[in-house]
Amino acid sequence: MIQITMPLNFLGTVYREIRQALVDMAEMFELLEQPAEVQDKPDARALRVDGGAVRFDDVVFGYDAERPILRGVTLDVPAGQTVAIVGPSGSGKSTIGRLLFRFYDVNGGALRIDGQDVRDITQESLHRTIGVVPQDTVLFNDTVYYNIAYGRPEASRAEVLEAARAAKIHGFIESLPEGYDTQVGERGLKLSGGEKQRVGIARTLLKNPPILLLDEATSALDTETEREIQRELKAMGEGRTVLTIAHRLSTIADADRIVVLEDGVIVEEGTHDALLASQGRYATLWARQGTDDDHDAAPRVRDIEE
Ligand code: ADP
Ligand code: MG
Repeated sequence: MIQITMPLNFLGTVYREIRQALVDMAEMFELLEQPAEVQDKPDARALRVDGGAVRFDDVVFGYDAERPILRGVTLDVPAGQTVAIVGPSGSGKSTIGRLLFRFYDVNGGALRIDGQDVRDITQESLHRTIGVVPQDTVLFNDTVYYNIAYGRPEASRAEVLEAARAAKIHGFIESLPEGYDTQVGERGLKLSGGEKQRVGIARTLLKNPPILLLDEATSALDTETEREIQRELKAMGEGRTVLTIAHRLSTIADADRIVVLEDGVIVEEGTHDALLASQGRYATLWARQGTDDDHDAAPRVRDIEE
């Protein structure tokens, strides 16, 4: 019995971690041969993208019926704008991202993209529309070329290389003995956190989605690499709708709007300057910069909570 249940438990853990990492679930469900919790309606239509405006309308959600996680979240991300979500860990930030990708359905309220309820559109079209750059880019045990081309498998070689150049990883790849044919991943060349993130950015640039979801995309990196990757992410966000879940406040100070989430409720929102001026929760988080952290210009949210 134990020999049967143990691997299953282990798989369950792995499965949850994969889900948390916000990787492309359609692909992962195939790998794990498990049906998605969320199914397309029989009459589901492809999302018609017109700028990619995202709206959460009084969204209520809990993973379990007894424990609500989001308790009425209304959040507007106008087409082409960048909205950042900050707040203590466990406040529901990543959950907002998971709902946008429709890993789960809301229990109350609605979530719309360009006015279309995500429950009425095909998951395929939804996933094609949203690019996710997770905290830790997952590399496949394949060539670096494959890992970038995965963003849009039908892309030409020239397009793959162009994406790599834009993500500032082309030079590095060219310097490898086997160039783009170098095997990476667990069984190949181990890339650094920054290199992996660049591959992830190249992959997403190639996918060219109108909506970007960045979930603490650079928090695993050292400060210097983080700064460089932030520049790439910012460039990638130009002309797209961006929902960014922030870990370090300094990385989102120039967002069009910042929302502060606490315990599943938005307690404050505004621009960095307006939020500082109002001297509320965000201002308190910001004011602690430098005291908890020797070398950073701004505090890590994680540090502040403790
Ligand atoms: P944040 O990203 O702000 O740190 P999350 O959105 O990841 O927070 O999580 C919010 C709450 O939901 C936490 O209390 C977390 O434990 C819980 N939670 C997250 N994922 C799951 C899950 N798959 N099943 C049950 N509870 C979960
Ligand atoms: Mg999170």
